[in-house]
Amino acid sequence: MTIFERIGVPVIINAKGTGTRLSGALMDREVADAMAEAADYCVDIAELQAAASRTIAHVTGAEAGYVTSGAAAGLLLATAACVAGLNPSHMGRLPDTSGMRDEVIMVRGQRNFYDHAVRTAGVKIIEVGLPDRHAGAGVRDTETWEIADAITEKTAAIFYVAERYARPPLTEVTAVAHAAGIPVIVDAAAQLPPAANLKRFISEGADLVAFSGGKVIGGPQATGLLCGRQDLIMSVALQHLDMDFHEEQWQPPATLIDKTRLKGMPRNGIGRPCKVGREDIVGFLTALDRFVSESDAARHKKWLAKVEMIASDLKGLNGAALDLVGADDTDTVPLLQLTLPPSPAPSALDVMIALQNGTPSVHVDATYADRRLIHINPIGLREDQVALVAPAIRTALG
Ligand SMILES: *Cc1c(COP(=O)(O)O)cnc(C)c1O
Repeated sequence: MTIFERIGVPVIINAKGTGTRLSGALMDREVADAMAEAADYCVDIAELQAAASRTIAHVTGAEAGYVTSGAAAGLLLATAACVAGLNPSHMGRLPDTSGMRDEVIMVRGQRNFYDHAVRTAGVKIIEVGLPDRHAGAGVRDTETWEIADAITEKTAAIFYVAERYARPPLTEVTAVAHAAGIPVIVDAAAQLPPAANLKRFISEGADLVAFSGGKVIGGPQATGLLCGRQDLIMSVALQHLDMDFHEEQWQPPATLIDKTRLKGMPRNGIGRPCKVGREDIVGFLTALDRFVSESDAARHKKWLAKVEMIASDLKGLNGAALDLVGADDTDTVPLLQLTLPPSPAPSALDVMIALQNGTPSVHVDATYADRRLIHINPIGLREDQVALVAPAIRTALG
């Protein structure tokens, strides 16, 4: 019996990927063991974050880093750092931004529900440009000059969502931002693989970059990393760490927090509700270490073996076409794609709902259901669940 069965919660088959609502990806035993070991000791949490900063800086090529409670929490902390800088009274006032730069510029076509995390810092999002290419009306997207024109004395940061096809190119955005002295925050939550992306956005000029720890890195579900400029990471730390000290007693690690740059000691900041425990930090660092020591090719091969196995179990399926997407591209997670025959056969969404309601319950990727496509993603699939997917699909298809 699993721990979930003991508390009355059914275990599902996650063939959808790293979605938070399905509890994310699987974690290696070594990561779980490291977390259990961390639970046995207490440490100074700022010292632990300073150690994490060194590791993250090494892996990303940034000046400094920080472990957050997820990429979305990282976006809140990054925005708060860009707004308050190293000013303790500004830190204390957030999300009230009176007297501060409090506008964040964003390409209109990059808006998404995670920008709620940015707005949580108290800023207003200024949308720029028109995504003609997404509207089906034309070929253009927001252009760099439109971003440059939107910068005012109220601009705190430019927020850029680094999807594969994001426009304009990040290098152009960081160039206009830096010409105006404005930092760029990059949401790269799901931009792994390839592992080279850990360094890419920093090398393209980003001032702060957020990655999810619970996706392909394989860390605890509620972790992520921020990497970037030393002064901004210092502001992140000050607005996140527990600051309940007598001032005389406060001895933060100098590599993370340079006390000489502060006119006073901030109180607990806007990031305090996004706390990260030692087990999560240690689990995240263990997963990050494993992630960077395994090649994209080796990861891709393991994933591909799972979807190939399901594809071979589904041979001869009446009507639906089977394709392996990304089978030759180690920069991606390979997917098994089922294309359902044209109506009046059941819709892709009906099949997915049948899968979800089956025993065992199987969850698949419904992103392209309107094109009659079902995608099977291997990241969250346990070895012992792979063989259960094809029979469930046959049953759901009737
Ligand atoms: C997953 C995701 C996030 C949130 O990441 P968490 O680590 O779950 O907080 C933010 N932005 C994008 C684009 C994502 O895909």
